[in-house]
Amino acid sequence: MGILVVGSVALDSVKTPFGEVEEALGGSATYFSVAASYFTDVSVVAVVGEDFPEKHVSFLRTKKINLAGLKKAPGKTFRWAGHYNYDLNTANTLKTELNVFETFDPELPLEYRDADLVFLANIDPVLQRRVVEQIKAPKIIAADTMNFWIESKRAELIETLKLVNILTINEAEVRQLADESNLVKGARKILSMGPKILIVKRGEYGVLMFNGGSTFSAPAYPLEDVFDPTGAGDTFAGGFMGYLASIRDFSDENLRKALVMGSVMASFTVEDFSLGGIRSLSYPEIERRFREFKRLSHFEDL
Ligand code: AMP
Repeated sequence: MGILVVGSVALDSVKTPFGEVEEALGGSATYFSVAASYFTDVSVVAVVGEDFPEKHVSFLRTKKINLAGLKKAPGKTFRWAGHYNYDLNTANTLKTELNVFETFDPELPLEYRDADLVFLANIDPVLQRRVVEQIKAPKIIAADTMNFWIESKRAELIETLKLVNILTINEAEVRQLADESNLVKGARKILSMGPKILIVKRGEYGVLMFNGGSTFSAPAYPLEDVFDPTGAGDTFAGGFMGYLASIRDFSDENLRKALVMGSVMASFTVEDFSLGGIRSLSYPEIERRFREFKRLSHFEDL
């Protein structure tokens, strides 16, 4: 079972208290697919401009990511610039240049239309829906979004959410989307908009999953060196969905393990800028950190 992902492929300029990068490889679909590629086959739907460096395409190919749906269009690649203060939990967006995404109308290659697992990574909700419409019989549709789209395309986003089974967004976005300050009440409200499962990303405080009557909480890995949180959310989603695709079972127990696998992958991403932390991991390294997570939060019954 492979995964189809639509999202941004970007050039990011990021500044944190620990350093900065200019026009580095980024984008929601990029982080997602590299993380998921450790577990399953991934096919990408996105667009880049003529200025997109070939070395980035070659790198994605080394991860065996299917790029048949990555279009090159006249114009400039999507660019995002952001900075973080010492509180690395909040990204401050300095610039969002949609560029080639402004006119992108995704036409899925025929081989993509049989996908059963779909991830709608953070991008215009209209594009997310266009992709879903072309898939014959999707089994699970998961999605992400962000404040930019909640503010600028709220009505379109609410339409897309009606098609979504699993939504992964951060804590501030839950409050913004639900218009509700209490997280549990906000989650209930979002679960009435379409998704059956809501995953709330809480930065260095971990993740919360609301799945019907069951609520699960996983910590974030307590790292000594966090350099750049960019892409942590997309990497989380890549680990989460990639693991689920590899075990082909969506029971609550497996969703919990997948949530930890997402957190494992995100913990590698924040240790370096751009894709540095997840470029070349080995499976034993991933497993080792998974087991450290287990020890971190394991406790005995009374
Ligand atoms: P996150 O996992 O939330 O840190 O996502 C960071 C990535 O999202 C960056 O690599 C950006 O290129 C990308 N990004 C930022 N803003 C947007 C947007 N409005 N639409 C799509 N992708 C975005």
